[in-house]
Formats: sequence, C-alpha cells, structure tokens
Amino acid sequence: MWSRREFLGTAFAGWTTMASLRSAERAKSNRQLAIAHIERTTVRVPYRPIPERNMDRELPHWRYSEIVEVKLKSGHVGLGETLLYYTWGVPSAADVKRALGENAARLMWDDSLGAGLQMALFDAVAKWAEVPVHALLGKKVHNRTPLSWWNIETSPEDMVAECKEAQRRGYTAYKTKGRPWFDIWAQIDAVAKAMPKSFKLDIDFNDTLLDAQRAIPILRELEKYPHIGIWETPIFQRDIKGNQEIRRQTRVPIAMHYGTPDPLTAIKEDVCDGFVITGGASRVMAQAHVAAMADKPFWLQLVGTGITAAFSLHLGGVLSHATWPAVNCHQLFTHNMLTEEIAVQNGYAKVPDRPGLGYDLDRDALDRFRVPKPKQRPEPARLIETVWPDGRKMYVANTGRVNFHLDLARKGKIPFFERGVTTRLVPDDGSKRWRQLYEKARQQAFITK
Ligand SMILES: [Mg+2]
Repeated sequence: MWSRREFLGTAFAGWTTMASLRSAERAKSNRQLAIAHIERTTVRVPYRPIPERNMDRELPHWRYSEIVEVKLKSGHVGLGETLLYYTWGVPSAADVKRALGENAARLMWDDSLGAGLQMALFDAVAKWAEVPVHALLGKKVHNRTPLSWWNIETSPEDMVAECKEAQRRGYTAYKTKGRPWFDIWAQIDAVAKAMPKSFKLDIDFNDTLLDAQRAIPILRELEKYPHIGIWETPIFQRDIKGNQEIRRQTRVPIAMHYGTPDPLTAIKEDVCDGFVITGGASRVMAQAHVAAMADKPFWLQLVGTGITAAFSLHLGGVLSHATWPAVNCHQLFTHNMLTEEIAVQNGYAKVPDRPGLGYDLDRDALDRFRVPKPKQRPEPARLIETVWPDGRKMYVANTGRVNFHLDLARKGKIPFFERGVTTRLVPDDGSKRWRQLYEKARQQAFITK
C-alpha cells in the first residue's frame, strides 16, 4: 500500500512529466507553425472577351491580383490572393514584416493583415493540421454551397451569351448591374426569352433607381419575369421608409450590403430580405452570425480569381445562412489561377474536404501572367458613349475615381432609366475628334443632340 504522501508524490511526478511533455509539444508546434517566408507575386490575368469589352469601360484594373504564398517552418505552403484594386484589404510591406517569425495560427484571425495574407495563413495552418480550411472556421453545415456567375452590365446580346455560358458551366444564377445607361427592359426580356425560368438574374442597382416612387413602377414591371431572383440596393440603403415601401409593393427579395443602415436598424425595421457580406474571416463570421440570428440569408461577396473563390467555399460550408449564391467573380478571367476548375453543378459547388483550401496554384499561369506591381491603380484613358433612340449622345470619361460613371447616376446627373439606350467604350483611334471628346468629357460628362 502506498502512503498518502507517496501516492501524491508519484501522481505529482506523473503530472509534471505530462505537463512538460505538453509544453515541449507546444514549443514544437510553435516552431512548426512559425512563418518562415512570404512570397508575393503580382499577376495581370486577362478577361474573357465579353467581360473584357464591358469591364474595360470602368473596371480595367480588376485584372491585377497579388498572389501570396506563406511558407511555415514545417515546410507547408499556404496560398492566398488579393485583388489589388477591389478588396477589403491589401497586405502592406509592414504586415508582411510583422507576420514573419510569428505563429501562423495565432495570427490568422487578424483581418488587418489583408485578404491574401490572411487566406494564405488559413491554408498553411490547415495543411499543417491536415484538415480542410472549413474545419478551422467552424462546423461544416453544408456539403455544397451556391455560387453565382458574375459580370458587369452589358448589352442584351452579351448578357444572353454570358447567361448561356454560365448555364453550360453548371450555374443557375447570373449576377449583374442595373444601370440607366443600358435598357434594363431589353436586357431582362432577352435573357427571359433565351433561358429557362429556373435560371435566375440577380440585379444590383447600386442606388440608381434613386427613390421608392421612381423604383416601384420599374421593379413591378420587371418582376413579372419569373427569372428575377434578387434585387440588390435598388435605392439608397439609408432610405428606410423607401425600402420598406419597395418591399411592401414588390415580390422579389431585396439584398442589401450589411452595415447601412446599421444592422440592428436593418433587422428591426426589416428593410431587406437578406444581406451581402464581405471582408476578412473575423468580420465575415461576426456578420454571418448576426444574419443567422435574424434568420436572414446572405451571399458571400469575396472577389478574385479561383483562389478567393476556393476560400469562399469553406466559409459557405460553415455558415448556416450563406444560402444565396456567392459572388466571387472568377468567371471574368480566362484562367482561375488553380490547377483545376471549381466544378459547379445545378448552381452548387462542393465544399472541399481535402487539407487546406483543397485547390493548388497553377504555377504555369503564375509565370505567364506575372507583372511588376503597379505603383498605383492603372488608369487608362477611357471615353464612354451612351446613345438614346432620339439621337441624344452622352460622353463620360475616366476621372481618376473608381465609380466615376455610377456617381453621376447616383447624383441624378444623367438621364434616368429609358428604353432603347445603349453604351459602349469608344476606341481611341488616335483622331483629333476622339481626343477632343475625351478631354471635354474628362472635365464634365456632357450630352449632345
Ligand atoms: Mg453590390
């Protein structure tokens, strides 16, 4: 029989051995998870032809992406990316410096690191732990997650061609913009004639219907088409009464970007049917849980090539209310930067269960599209012409602001939605006439008759 003293002594010795083993284990994993190297590569990924001729009006700079590769002491390499000129956060040189040598698991929830670096940390830690990224984010509640095709506003013909391509690739939803410089009636009618009712159009007006009085007749007319899935931000989100009125008088669900009005007001006043959620991992999880509490669906809006889309799949897997199709925009590009496609079937992609993101970087594409990182957002000269059936022509040119064209519509400074209107980028033919129109439009958008 052991004396009480002997027993306690033995138990204590055992406990201290276990504790020191545990702390040795911890030190070892700390060393393995230490960030040894961070590689950043800027790429300029080409657009496919239809996105190209439409994105080049206002968003030529979405081609630029920074690929981030984080190597841990363990040898595991994590992959991430930042779309340099449309993101919630670009990793800076200071972010890279403070991450080096740190434990990747300790840092990965820090949104202030920026998109590509944070994504790469999640991928690296998940690979080290031999689990999919979604296992680090929460409990998987969906095996498949919905994805939307995306393209900016286009002519009705281009829109039909893109919808057909989306359908061919397994998508059942197409997200685009509603703009007063295109004929929204003709766009929707053309798609409705070409596509089955089960194929949905989700249309973001970015406030351009301006107020409930002007928005309601247009929305009611358009929502007779069964193809309309969701309207996003038809009028200013801060207009609580106006948005309530729109919801009362229309049938199609309304999406709003989370944050305006503040989420408590948005929920209490019931201004929308669901949300658009974007940002770093911590912010997305926090906002997604508020949406779940309010029982509001949302779509994840994490924009980039296939790398960002792959990360988004994992968030979609753990978030109960991520049931509206995610907007990742990787369909814009000729190449998704991954060694394989993200397969979509009946509008859904599988939430990956392989370790890490579950997708690998295409190194050939990285070499092919590699460019020096621009010092600032490239701003090619662009002259945009809008033509109405009565002969009016409007000229708008880039001003250095991202939403230069949209801002005019939001301020009511260009004609409201009309039938028969169309818009194109006027190619610079080197003529004196082009230069004159461009210089004048740069000063101020103008209309000729
Ligand atoms: Mg939007």
